[in-house]
Amino acid sequence: MTAGPTQVRENVRLERSKEFTNPDIDPKFFDFYKETCELLSKAMHTDTKAFILGGEGILGLEAACASLTEEGDRVLVIDNGIFGKGFADFVSIYGGEPVLFSSDYRNPVNIDELRDFLSKDSDFKYATVVHCDTPSGVMNDVEGISKLFDEFGILTVCDSVAGMFGEPLDVSNSKIDILCGGSQKALSAPPGLTMVWVSDRAFEAMQNRKTPIRAFYANLLFIKDYYENQWFPYTMPASDIMGLRIAIDNYLEDADFQNRHKQLARATRNAVEKAGLKLYLESGYSNNVTVIEIPEGITEDEILSRLRDEFGILISGCFDVLKGKVIRIGHMGENANKEDIAQTLAGLQKILESHGIKLACEMKGEFLLSC
Ligand SMILES: *Cc1c(COP(=O)(O)O)cnc(C)c1O
Repeated sequence: MTAGPTQVRENVRLERSKEFTNPDIDPKFFDFYKETCELLSKAMHTDTKAFILGGEGILGLEAACASLTEEGDRVLVIDNGIFGKGFADFVSIYGGEPVLFSSDYRNPVNIDELRDFLSKDSDFKYATVVHCDTPSGVMNDVEGISKLFDEFGILTVCDSVAGMFGEPLDVSNSKIDILCGGSQKALSAPPGLTMVWVSDRAFEAMQNRKTPIRAFYANLLFIKDYYENQWFPYTMPASDIMGLRIAIDNYLEDADFQNRHKQLARATRNAVEKAGLKLYLESGYSNNVTVIEIPEGITEDEILSRLRDEFGILISGCFDVLKGKVIRIGHMGENANKEDIAQTLAGLQKILESHGIKLACEMKGEFLLSC
């Protein structure tokens, strides 16, 4: 029950055991890859072309920054979370100058404040923003933020690795130029793949660079015309992509997917708050993960190791500035089911109470009542 990688359904796991063809030379694989990418565009309600890259979720963030950034480019980095701030590193590595727009980690980005900031300084080639910043769980209005950037002529790179699928996201109603996703969060395929949706104008910006892209694996121009050229820059992990395809089908066939995420997340927060525990966020709660402050009298390690050893349940702690301060229940994708969340809350309750921490209700019962 971590905030990713999430549980993987049997049909996805089995698909990965099937025979596969040579993805470098078999035209059937190119068709299969293209169809799979088209389903990804459909899932995000857009004609914007999607691509699957052979590498973990971080590859998409790095590929976006590698492909767009030239020496000295100013890039606006929206920092209201740990992943948000982390984009500054990718920008610097590729020679850009990151400029942070920092705001309170307990709330989503305030669009009016961002507008005020941009009216004074908008000389940025692109900006980065995170949809669901998993360490705190905060959800940003990335559709609205990307439209604001567009008003100022700034391209948008959006990390929705932990947001997409569980949270509504309509790319056609946005100005997102490079959208990044991963296989191992709400889509519930195993870790190992990145998905990126790249707009025509993002590709134009790459083609109009004065200097070449300083990357090979992370160079998005190399994958752009794979179908016309019947050529991939590296051998595609065929079995991983076959599994991903089934995970996408699972998502598209499940009309209640997002509604279920919303209801279960609301019921989880309700149970936690009624029990007297404190949510980390003040607003902007995501449907994919619930982030709870660790009450006094117990440590992160005590909660995580006892849940693991006595109940067989893994949840997430946190890192960086939130290390030791919060625990996180990931209820996205296959984790988004009543039984598993109820058991997690029951286990958590037993552990906290055995440490003398009094809770005001029985969380499992409260959760089941409200979902
Ligand atoms: C999981 C995640 C990624 C991918 O990072 P890994 O830590 O390598 O799994 C990127 N961005 C966000 C917001 C994520 O939650």
